[in-house]
Amino acid sequence: MASTAILWYRRDLRVHDHPALAAALAAADEVVPVFVIDDALLAGRWPAPNRAWFMRESLVALSGALAERGAALRILRGRPADVLPALAREAGARDVFWTRDAAPYGLARDRAIAERLRADGVAVHATRGLYVHEPDAVATRDGRPFTVFGPYRRAWEALPRRDVIAAPDRIPGPVGARPDPVPDLGAPSADPDQVPRPGELAARARLAAWVERGVDGYAVTRDRLDREGGTSRLSQDLRWGLLSPLEVMERAAGPGEGRRVFAAEVAWREFYAHVLWHQPRVRREPFRAAFAALPWRDDPAAFEAWRAGRTGYPVVDAAMRQLRATGFMHNRARMVAASFLAKHLLLDWRLGEAEFMRHLTDGDVASNNGGWQWTASTGTDPQPYFRVFNPVLQGRRFDPDGAYVRRWVPELRGIDGAAIHAPWTLDAAAQAAAGLRIGIDYSPPIVDHAAARERALAAYGAARAAGR
Ligand code: FAD
Repeated sequence: MASTAILWYRRDLRVHDHPALAAALAAADEVVPVFVIDDALLAGRWPAPNRAWFMRESLVALSGALAERGAALRILRGRPADVLPALAREAGARDVFWTRDAAPYGLARDRAIAERLRADGVAVHATRGLYVHEPDAVATRDGRPFTVFGPYRRAWEALPRRDVIAAPDRIPGPVGARPDPVPDLGAPSADPDQVPRPGELAARARLAAWVERGVDGYAVTRDRLDREGGTSRLSQDLRWGLLSPLEVMERAAGPGEGRRVFAAEVAWREFYAHVLWHQPRVRREPFRAAFAALPWRDDPAAFEAWRAGRTGYPVVDAAMRQLRATGFMHNRARMVAASFLAKHLLLDWRLGEAEFMRHLTDGDVASNNGGWQWTASTGTDPQPYFRVFNPVLQGRRFDPDGAYVRRWVPELRGIDGAAIHAPWTLDAAAQAAAGLRIGIDYSPPIVDHAAARERALAAYGAARAAGR
């Protein structure tokens, strides 16, 4: 009788460079690929229509790629702890393969399911694949976790890498098996035309274009808000495993500053997974205990202005509107918008973390938490607390002609050049020439930069002193 293995897909929706798929093929005559739609997870701590939509469309693409190779993707709905053991029994599978997750929820879920399967006599194989190096594979010489990025990255670079695995030509499945339809999981909240095309093939095309035309200029273009194509736009592909990070690294490898800096950014993604792995408490609390005592303000009106992109600071407003419209925000904009919430408004960074997770197609617990804690100066190897981004200067520097702001804040389109970054400084005649009335068409700044900066410095300084 033919032996059967189940391949449980989760956030690894591809057929190229897929160690768990390769292992399943090596272990059994037939492979049954499955995805479990877990409504509890979709509605859980971070529900996000953009991610549900992107995942659903990527599953449709995966189902097609598997069918071309002879396998039928099963789509089950329910709690994986119930439906997977049932599928293993139905398929007569002796082995279940999956790509090892590193985030706390996934780990706990996988442990429970592994136990259930083993009790039924089914062997469980959790294979690497979400990272170039697993979060627990990188350690200091004396075996401790890293808390600073530089040495982490050097250790990460020095580790040997496995070879990239080609996509299999054939994935034999049970005779006559038909793929299950992928249910509609609802519309995205962003405009789908503004979201990169889902699915592995589209992601591979993005990677090919980036390696050919983008990466060499990355060191210069990466911080520019006004440059379309200045960054790779691969984050949702890495988030959903449409691309393997190892393959991305291999394809982008080579001489030059652009490729070196790009590799470092991919390493940041792995650093934050490493931090979360070793310090799961950062999901709810600051890495730096001293800053647990920060006196966050309670100001729903200010939070609402920030969310809606109505702070009166054009770069912050453009960033928040880009997020809503596209489910994406440029990295520099993420830093400026996050800093504005935590420091200018002195609102708890966890409110912002949740707001980003509501919209980001690439929303990832480790990277988002890491980015927020870095910006709020509460994290591992963070931005020093006394650095408070000046949104006007950030705008002038990274959007020198104002094209980014003009794209996302139409009220300001009549203002030429860098003056767009401080519209409240325009006199009445200049406002009239730009077709703008500050206070009517566009908000004046909701906080004064200098005063907000002083308030943040005082609050952070006091929390640090008290925590020593
Ligand atoms: P590129 O500049 O082309 O970088 C290449 C890849 O490296 C990215 O696709 C991403 O996988 C990784 N990367 C780059 N910068 C970082 C970084 N600082 N931290 C971790 N990984 C990085 N990234 C996410 O993938 N998901 C998130 O939820 C997320 N939340 C963030 C929240 C805040 C407050 C901040 C400051 C950053 C956050 N980032 C997050 C990191 C970064 O902003 C995005 O990865 C990047 O903007 C995605 O665009 P790109 O693919 O064009 O990136």
